[in-house]
Amino acid sequence: MPDRASEVADYKRGYACVDGEFVPAATASVSIFDHSFLYGDGVFESIVCRGGRPFALRPHLDRLWASCQYLRITPPCDRDRIAALITELLERNGLADGYVRVVVSRGEGYPVSDPRKAVNPKLVISVQGASAAARPRDVGVKLAIASTRRIPPICLEPRVKSNNYLNHIVAKLEAIGAGADDAILLDIDGNVAELPVANIFVRHGDVLSTPPANGILAGITRETVMRLVSGGAAGPGLRVEQRVMAPYDLFTASEVFIVGTGTGVAFVSSIDGRQVGDGTAGPATTRLMDAYADLLARGGPDAADLEPQLTGKGA
Ligand code: PMP
Repeated sequence: MPDRASEVADYKRGYACVDGEFVPAATASVSIFDHSFLYGDGVFESIVCRGGRPFALRPHLDRLWASCQYLRITPPCDRDRIAALITELLERNGLADGYVRVVVSRGEGYPVSDPRKAVNPKLVISVQGASAAARPRDVGVKLAIASTRRIPPICLEPRVKSNNYLNHIVAKLEAIGAGADDAILLDIDGNVAELPVANIFVRHGDVLSTPPANGILAGITRETVMRLVSGGAAGPGLRVEQRVMAPYDLFTASEVFIVGTGTGVAFVSSIDGRQVGDGTAGPATTRLMDAYADLLARGGPDAADLEPQLTGKGA
């Protein structure tokens, strides 16, 4: 693991892109009146990049567009332009492998509490090297079930990937306080929802289960993993289903793993201090870790025809 100082030096190195301009990341800034800074009134995407190419860019930009549309934020440029800016930013930073973060804020306006006054949405794209987030693949994740619940859809639509993560952060603080690495958030009915920035799968026999998409952020990695399982990547005869699960289903599983853009596929070694399986990566998880790594190395199913698919789908 890199130390704190080198982590900071790493993510502040190079360039960021603010409203289409490439500026030194260390001094890039947004207004103190920006609605995302003041209220979390903005949306974002994190995208993994391999070999200088963003993975699954199209679904990420589709989700960004849907989030903007729901919040009535007009993206400041079209998808092709964002794709081009990401490519240029990676090149300017000499970065082949890493993560890109695309943020669209409602922008700055006064009086600040009125969304109608913020009329110039802001686009910020930043990059982070892969090493900063790296986790050795043989080290399992220790989870704790947080008492903080996931915000229900009736309060905030979970398909919107907004900059409001406060309850996820509080859940993570709880988990860290309990000596775990990360939190499991339950929904308000006590069923398993997701992690602060990842989705969860469990295995019982030949079935891999993950919570249904309606109360969680239905992640792009989750979707990719479900497709990999259906294609046989987790092992012959294994199938995947979406179902409502209680903590009981976590404690009785033979494998538990988490997935997300930053996480990739990682195995869970314990939950609330109870060891999962033998505490190492189980067979289905190991296969999926390999299959996902393979897919990233190849650029993903939609990387090759990305440009033509993007063209014409602008705002
Ligand atoms: N849930 C939440 C709340 C997240 O923030 C993320 C990370 N974006 C995920 C799940 C995983 O989604 P994805 O695979 O699209 O990164």
